[in-house]
Amino acid sequence: RSRRAEEGVMKPAMTKNGVPVRVLINVADPVDLDRIDIKSCDGVGLMRTEFLFSKVTGLPDEEAQYRAYRKVLEWAADKPVTIRTIDAGGDKPVPGFTVEEGNPFLGLRGIRLALARPDVFSAQARALLRAAVHGNLKVMFPMVAVHEEYARATALFAEEAKKLAAAGEPYAMPPLGIMVEVPSVAIAPELFSDVAFFSIGSNDLTQYVMAAARDNTAVATLNSATHPAVLRLIADVTEFGRQHHIPVSLCGDAGGDAAAIPLLLKAGLRDVSVVPAQLALAKAAIAGVTV
Ligand code: PEP
Ligand code: MG
Repeated sequence: RSRRAEEGVMKPAMTKNGVPVRVLINVADPVDLDRIDIKSCDGVGLMRTEFLFSKVTGLPDEEAQYRAYRKVLEWAADKPVTIRTIDAGGDKPVPGFTVEEGNPFLGLRGIRLALARPDVFSAQARALLRAAVHGNLKVMFPMVAVHEEYARATALFAEEAKKLAAAGEPYAMPPLGIMVEVPSVAIAPELFSDVAFFSIGSNDLTQYVMAAARDNTAVATLNSATHPAVLRLIADVTEFGRQHHIPVSLCGDAGGDAAAIPLLLKAGLRDVSVVPAQLALAKAAIAGVTV
């Protein structure tokens, strides 16, 4: 990383012609945040919660999750924090939770598995609802393919909120959005006009559009987030969001890729979330683009 990029990391990102771009960070383990200054980013665009589930033996209880989510929200102060509900399966197996399958990328993963395990999903929902009073929380569901999954997930959150209210426990209902990483959503976003926001998962979206697994080096050149077919879907979703006042961001690895950034901005994106190690590089790349 260059010195200039390091110096630029504390400033808000802006294109060469002065268009502001929000750059947030992706977080897995809340302890990662101890080394990051909140002033260097616009918030947390993706907290992957699978890590909490892989770290412990057995699944983490509501209380352990509540503490982890609250820690991230308090670290971010008033900046937005988007926490993703458990996205296990595929490239993210969780022992004792995910199932053995012949074709795990097309199987019981993400929201499908969460909905199949309401015991686990409800505990996470309660932890998130309780943590929401401590900051600017948004919650998103991974691997949504059909609207019914969003409807069932939001109903589960409403149900747990009702129970918390009845028990007199403090909670808040965060905006509930979805990942755009299954092509059905990217092709027909109009089926999801009631979501609070879209977050494009370019890692999975690319592998499904290009039929090239994200974890197979033999097909790595095919697995390109900047292929025109992938970029067209990203542009379409971004335009749909603009027309219907639904915020659209991107939290896949392409957002921190200097070669992809000009193309993502050209596709209309103004909001990306990147791994902390790519923060300086992403801001420097944005500063070189005229939109
Ligand atoms: C994605 O698919 O682009 C994404 C951000 O989620 P994950 O990499 O955790 O599947
Ligand atoms: Mg994904």
